[in-house]
Amino acid sequence: MSRQRLLDQCPRAYFFRYYAGWNGWLVQAPRRSRIAYRLSKLTGLDAVFGQEMDRRAREIEWAAREGRPLPGPKELEARTRATLNAVWVSSKDRSVFEESPKSTIMLRSVYMSEDAEPDISRVKNKISPCIEALLSLDHWDRLSMCWREGSVTIPDFAHFFLNGVKVFAAADLAYVHEGTLYVMDWKTGKESEDDDTQVLISTYSLRENDEVFRGLPVQATVHYLARGQSLRVQIPDDEQAQVEAVVEEGVLRMRRYLRDPEGNIPLDEEDFPQRETGLCRYCNFMLLCKAN
Ligand code: SF4
Repeated sequence: MSRQRLLDQCPRAYFFRYYAGWNGWLVQAPRRSRIAYRLSKLTGLDAVFGQEMDRRAREIEWAAREGRPLPGPKELEARTRATLNAVWVSSKDRSVFEESPKSTIMLRSVYMSEDAEPDISRVKNKISPCIEALLSLDHWDRLSMCWREGSVTIPDFAHFFLNGVKVFAAADLAYVHEGTLYVMDWKTGKESEDDDTQVLISTYSLRENDEVFRGLPVQATVHYLARGQSLRVQIPDDEQAQVEAVVEEGVLRMRRYLRDPEGNIPLDEEDFPQRETGLCRYCNFMLLCKAN
């Protein structure tokens, strides 16, 4: 879904992210590939914060499962702030990042020498409300009755195959309680039109990969933590047909940009239009794009 979303936002950014940086991790790669690869590793404070909320949710899950008191908001906030501060510090060393972009976290705003203050203040303002909202969810009450039962492992690169296409889709958390499969995503930013589709596909992925889940009723939810609201996602009776339609439509759009679909060889860079919108100011690849 993130790949399709980027293609929709700007085909040229999609080219930089998925093709220009290929092999860019190799020292002998062309300079432009190395730059594209490096830029693809830049991140934002909002994204780091989102990952931290995933970690906090796992910590709460295991405290609940093991019958320990749930960590309090102050403890969770302190851990979150510590990581955000560490990311800020690690972003100060440009040369370390340039030598090893995969293993060094670098904030986009710092790397681009932009004013990071708006990002910092936006994320700071989200920490407490998001943690309060996370702690208030009723999942923890259920999980406190589960011990280790009903735990669902979600691999880092969870995926399934549909008509020969590998589709990456991972829920943020899932578990089984009293015969129901609970699947959810956390959102710490704005809602997107396809949030429900994303959860639908993650649920499908879980059930495709483990037949134990197939016959179970599902409660799928998107939790918008910053505003303390939740969206219940209905799993339709024709779930497979709907997932197939979304995936096939996305694959078709991506294949239009391939010269050789079998070899995954893209068209030329110029064939990927630059779509200049307000999103350009957040684009990792602005340096390459504007250099044309
Ligand atoms: S700067 Fe704008 S036009 Fe250029 S790649 Fe990024 S989003 Fe696309």
